Amino acid sequence: MNPSLRYIQGYPEHIVTPITRLVESGQLNTWFEQRYPTKHTIKSEKALFEYTMAIKNRFLRKSAPLSKVIYDHKIHLINNALGLHSYVNRIQGNKVKSKNEIRIASVFKDAPEPLLRMLIVHELAHLKEKDHNKAFYQLCCHMEPDYHQLELDARLFMMYLENQ
Ligand SMILES: [Zn+2]
Repeated sequence: MNPSLRYIQGYPEHIVTPITRLVESGQLNTWFEQRYPTKHTIKSEKALFEYTMAIKNRFLRKSAPLSKVIYDHKIHLINNALGLHSYVNRIQGNKVKSKNEIRIASVFKDAPEPLLRMLIVHELAHLKEKDHNKAFYQLCCHMEPDYHQLELDARLFMMYLENQ
């Protein structure tokens, strides 16, 4: 099994099966580039902060203020790195909650814009909901109606990077 398939562990078979075929036939990356032909241009931390604040001011104006939003190269691509129980929870515990900072894995500096937006939405939702519960995902979907599809696609982006 291609080790990058761990990123979609837990997804239903009708999603896992076609993705597995793409990976095993070596076509995942071509497919991904067709699906997302462009990358965002939000490279500086100033731009990243302004981008985040625009979303926050639209949907979460009254939640806790944010001091910083940064790209962090120390956040690595690890198992289930998105939305389950690893880095996002750790960020929630140590950073977002105590200092109101959002840290985005620096590999997302070169990601398609919708996937960056999904990560920002995820972290902003943690300003109101600590856990990945129903209210949390409702808030994510309120800010980004395609949230669940984009979370899957962000996992495919991690697979894309690993298979380069
Ligand atoms: Zn989270």
